[in-house]
Amino acid sequence: MKDRVAFITGASQGIGRACARVLAEHGARVVAAARQQEKLEQLVAEIRAAGGQAAAVPMDVASAESIAAAFRQAVEIFGKVEILVNNAGITRDGLAMRMKRESWDAVLTTNLTGSFLCIQQALPGMVRARWGRIVNISSVVGETGNSGQANYVASKAGLIGLTKALAQEVASRNITVNAVAPGFIETAMTDALEPAARDRLLAMIPLRRMGTDLEVANAVRFLASDEAAYITGHVLDVNGGLRM
Ligand code: NAP
Repeated sequence: MKDRVAFITGASQGIGRACARVLAEHGARVVAAARQQEKLEQLVAEIRAAGGQAAAVPMDVASAESIAAAFRQAVEIFGKVEILVNNAGITRDGLAMRMKRESWDAVLTTNLTGSFLCIQQALPGMVRARWGRIVNISSVVGETGNSGQANYVASKAGLIGLTKALAQEVASRNITVNAVAPGFIETAMTDALEPAARDRLLAMIPLRRMGTDLEVANAVRFLASDEAAYITGHVLDVNGGLRM
C-alpha cells in the first residue's frame, strides 16, 4: 500500500492506533483522527521516527461538522483519501429495559452514524479515482448479540448491514467494503471487565486468550491492500474461535 492515503478514526489508542502503525509500516500515508489530540501527536511522532508518514487530525465522529472539517484537512495534507478505517467506537452498557435514551443515542451516533458520515466524506474521491477500501470495525457481539449491550450490539450489527449494502452500491467503482469483527481484544475497552467475567469469557474462547490490537490491525491491513481486491461485503472474524 505504498503511498496510499489511509484515514483511520479512533486512532488515538487501542485497535485504531495499531491500525495506524501497521498501515504506516506498510507504506501508507496515515491520517490519524480522534478527539485526544495529544495522543494522536504522540502516535504521529512514533510513525515518523520509524520512517513513516502520518498526520494528526482532531475529529469528533459524533459531529458532522467535525467530520467534514477533518476530511477537508486530510485532503489538504495528503491530497486524497483512498482507505477509510471506521474504528471509533464507545460502549454505554445497561439492560435495555432501563437504558437511558442518551446511552442509546450516544452509542448509535458514534459507532454507526459516525461511520456512515465518514463514508459519505470519503466516497466521492474514491469513486473519482476508481479505487477505494473501506473497512468497518464491527464486533463479534454484532453477530451473536450480548445481554446488557443492546445499543452497542445494534450499532455493530448495523455496521455489518451498512457494509453489505454499500459493498453492492460501489463495487462497480472498484471500491471494496468489508467489516472486521473482533472478539475480545486487550484494550482500554475491555480493561473494565471483572476478573470473574474475564475468566468466564476465556473459557469460551477456543484459543484460550484474548486477542491483541495488532492481530486486528493485521486483518484490517489485509482487507485494505491490493491482495484483497476480490473480497467485498465480507465480515472477517478475529475472535480466537469464539464464534465459528
Ligand atoms: P478504545 O481503546 O476505547 O478506543 C476507542 C477509540 O475510539 C479511541 O481512539 C477514541 O478516541 C475513539 N473514539 C471514541 N469516541 C470518539 C468520537 N466521538 N470521535 C472520535 N473518536 C472517538 O477501544 P478499542 O478496543 O480500541 O476499540 C476500537 C474499536 O474496536 C471500537 O469500535 C470497538 O467497538 C471495536 N471492538 C473492540 C473490541 C475489544 O475487545 N476491545 C471488540 C470488538 C470490537 P478519542 O477518545 O481520542 O476520541
